[in-house]
Amino acid sequence: MALELDARQRAMLEEMHVRVWWPQAPAPAEPAAAQAEAVAAPVAPPPMAARPAPAVAAPAPVVAATPRPAVAPAADDGRAAAIAAMDWTALQQSVSGCEACKLCGTRKNTVFGVGPAVPQAEAPPRVDWLIVGEAPGEQEDLRGEPFVGQAGKLLDNMLRAVGVSRHGEVRGAQAAFIVNVLKCRPPGNRNPALDEVAQCEPYLKRQIALLQPKIILAVGRFAVQSLLAGSVPDVQTQPLGRLRGKVYRYEAVPVVVSYHPAYLLRSLPEKAKAWADLCLAMETVKSL
Ligand code: SF4
Repeated sequence: MALELDARQRAMLEEMHVRVWWPQAPAPAEPAAAQAEAVAAPVAPPPMAARPAPAVAAPAPVVAATPRPAVAPAADDGRAAAIAAMDWTALQQSVSGCEACKLCGTRKNTVFGVGPAVPQAEAPPRVDWLIVGEAPGEQEDLRGEPFVGQAGKLLDNMLRAVGVSRHGEVRGAQAAFIVNVLKCRPPGNRNPALDEVAQCEPYLKRQIALLQPKIILAVGRFAVQSLLAGSVPDVQTQPLGRLRGKVYRYEAVPVVVSYHPAYLLRSLPEKAKAWADLCLAMETVKSL
């Protein structure tokens, strides 16, 4: 099944320099005068120059979930059990006052996540997609919101191009909630440490349990490793590019792997692959 894009969505992709292939109807023969005028007219988006990337990934193998060990030994099972029983509001409050790892000493704000407004006080928002990134950066730490700045803009635009929105503000769009594995910024944007991931993991686990998304899009190495440790052998050592193109499971929720938007800003050629990942995620949602 092909993902149908209207002219506006295609224009958005062009604007983002996401060059994808889609079938083009053969143009009818035109009179010579009309052909001359057409030189200045807007042209249809070109196909990929080399090895066209399909607009929609081929049917992807689904990797079955297996029992999942923690990324690192959890320090306190009692704490994890308490978090696993929290409602949405209690979870937010717990994150905002959390001192379970050393990152609490350097953060300006915790970054719980962002998505559509909640219908009731204790209830989580209704979402279709969960986007999981790595950790807050400087701007996210200052604003208390994930994926702001250029990377956030790129993520929002790419999501919007497939009809997904973080605030659910676009009519007819599927709603997304956006989180990070870590809720506090590692100083200097260093990589998350194993013990920090282990301490913060119960929050992500509870967010997923409460949100019950139809699909999880894991962007970047740490999100992928955190979500797929245990269900994918040697996920810690496999390059992210080799993990793409399949549908995995995190406790029964389908997971699609993609590149982090910050990486895409530095690696323009990878945008077409990220677009193919989004199409795979959308097709997976449609097939549910
Ligand atoms: S990173 Fe997570 S575990 Fe560490 S202090 Fe922040 S919220 Fe708590």
